[in-house]
Amino acid sequence: MPRRLHLRGRSDGRAATAGDGVTIELSVAIVGAGPAGVHAAGALSELAPGTRIDIFERLPAPYGLVRHGIAPDHPARVTKLTGELRAVLAGSGARLFCGVEIGTDVTVRDLRNRYDAVVIATGARRDVPVELPGLNLPGSFGAADFVAWYSGHPDASPAWTLRAESVAVIGAGNVALDVIRMLSKPAYALAGTGIPLHVLNEFAASPVRDIHLFARRGPADTRFSPTELGELGDQDDVDVIVDPADLAPDLHMERMTRQFAPTRKVVDILRAWSRIPAAARTASRRVHLHFYRIPAAVLGVDRVQGLRTERAVPDGYGHITGSGDYEDHKVQAVYRAIGYAVSPLAGVPFDPGTRTVPHRAGAVLGEPGLYVTGWAKRGCIGLVGATRADTFQTARTLLQDHVRERGTDHA
Ligand SMILES: Cc1cc2nc3c(=O)[nH]c(=O)nc-3n(C[C@H](O)[C@H](O)[C@H](O)COP(=O)(O)OP(=O)(O)OC[C@H]3O[C@@H](n4cnc5c(N)ncnc54)[C@H](O)[C@@H]3O)c2cc1C
Repeated sequence: MPRRLHLRGRSDGRAATAGDGVTIELSVAIVGAGPAGVHAAGALSELAPGTRIDIFERLPAPYGLVRHGIAPDHPARVTKLTGELRAVLAGSGARLFCGVEIGTDVTVRDLRNRYDAVVIATGARRDVPVELPGLNLPGSFGAADFVAWYSGHPDASPAWTLRAESVAVIGAGNVALDVIRMLSKPAYALAGTGIPLHVLNEFAASPVRDIHLFARRGPADTRFSPTELGELGDQDDVDVIVDPADLAPDLHMERMTRQFAPTRKVVDILRAWSRIPAAARTASRRVHLHFYRIPAAVLGVDRVQGLRTERAVPDGYGHITGSGDYEDHKVQAVYRAIGYAVSPLAGVPFDPGTRTVPHRAGAVLGEPGLYVTGWAKRGCIGLVGATRADTFQTARTLLQDHVRERGTDHA
């Protein structure tokens, strides 16, 4: 009769330890050595010491988007998170195999035949697909490609030309802010951050003067974090321009700013920028933040020459409708930062609607012994801290299933 594994700890799993005298004979393969894969190894070794863990990573080095996603002008953050992941990896006793792509070099089926359990932690590296006329014109880019280029991702071609004086960025989250900061920041402020030299040289040669962000909805509906937003205004030689009309209060904005402190801070920062008189703007680069603008088309014949947006009308309850009023903005490049998307992995179920691996508490539906964690599980949202918490849920589910199925004696 199956006996139970005693797992002790707080409900968030942080202080969880294996029960007295627990040893589990269990082998686990983890696919992906990003934050989720590394923390999954940490969670398994903490909850069930002695678990044999192998991590397979397609790139030559671990840590996923922490290495190839976090903007290089945040070097302290990269160093801190990398140091934490390194410590978790070392403490877990896991073996790390880099340069092995699961699905290509080895199949998921192979892993499932050789290990008791397989955890998918493959994260994301592509832009979410969007449909917009003109999107395929030269000069129209996805943020994921741009991020991969400036962070020296091995998949990214080193060739990227920054030749636009006016740029549009579509999106209202922190990746859009990263893109704007990287485009607007003076190159000297990037030197010494670990940014690849060919990238630094390209930023130094960039003729950009005006960067326009277009958000579909209002200031209270952005996904900006206040710190990241505030950083835009702290840069040398960059003015941030916001039209006060976009900040006209309505019931929805009042409710959101009352209820959510980060939203209040975001709106306060935007209001402060909207009050800066035009005469005080003397910087050589300008960031314009536009709200209630629905992207309608990327314009151009053989390359990007503009972006058409439609004015959105808020209804005061958090919804918008198109007004039928269109504006054309003259830009030579368009960056879309609408979000990242998980890519399907052969041998692993995939829900094209949510673009995630379907699961219950981390157990992949209909696939015993297969688990998922991180962005592949939750979708492409959330910081590394959220990913860590989520790995504990998956690890607990895996261990409980193992005990149930094998009847392992842990009591
Ligand atoms: C532009 C950007 C900036 C960000 N900035 C911050 C920030 O400042 N602070 C913060 O806390 N969070 C930040 N985040 C969020 C953070 O990066 C994610 O929360 C976190 O990386 C998700 O972890 P993950 O392990 O699920 O995915 P990933 O980080 O994507 O890791 C997945 C790993 O799996 C590997 N892999 C994929 N497929 C295979 C395969 N078939 N075989 C083997 N290996 C495979 C990948 O190479 C990668 O190493 C940022 C995200 C982005 C996109």
